[in-house]
Amino acid sequence: MKPQTSSPTSNATLIKRNSPGVPRQWNVTHSCGHDAVHDLSDRPADKRAGFARWLGSRDCTDCWKANRDADTESKQQWLAARRAEEQQAADDWAEKFDMPPLEGPEKALQWGARSRHQLMTTAHTALVIEGTWDEADWAKLEEKARTIPRAGWWIDQRDAAGTDLLELLDAATEADRGTENPFR
Ligand SMILES: [Zn+2]
Repeated sequence: MKPQTSSPTSNATLIKRNSPGVPRQWNVTHSCGHDAVHDLSDRPADKRAGFARWLGSRDCTDCWKANRDADTESKQQWLAARRAEEQQAADDWAEKFDMPPLEGPEKALQWGARSRHQLMTTAHTALVIEGTWDEADWAKLEEKARTIPRAGWWIDQRDAAGTDLLELLDAATEADRGTENPFR
């Protein structure tokens, strides 16, 4: 990608010598191939050549910004893809285990569903797989979890330890249980 530079030995050349002394304006060919004029008058005279060479080892400002923006964009795309995967897993899980649709503000519904799936998975691992609970114990906890459709409740507990889930479920109030609770 790098085009031929006019100077075989350096990618930084001075372009103006309209005043005596060490030049202030340097024409730098950047590693991206773009030429740019840099005013190095704020650098000590004996540091300008070295600084111009260093500039030449880097992308020009426009390319540097473009790369930075591309990095940000790909990171955001990666996060969005990961969130979509988690959402799909949470939705599949909710359907399979007959978890009720969550209630709350539109913005909270998906986050709440991901939080519920995450916490229930963590709790199952801690209590059943690694703990002493049997499937009957777990079924009782699942039944309690089904009575809480408020998305905000699950979001609030998203950082809780799995081993605390039963206590948290028992502490939930009527407001968290919603209006369509068939167990009431
Ligand atoms: Zn460039």
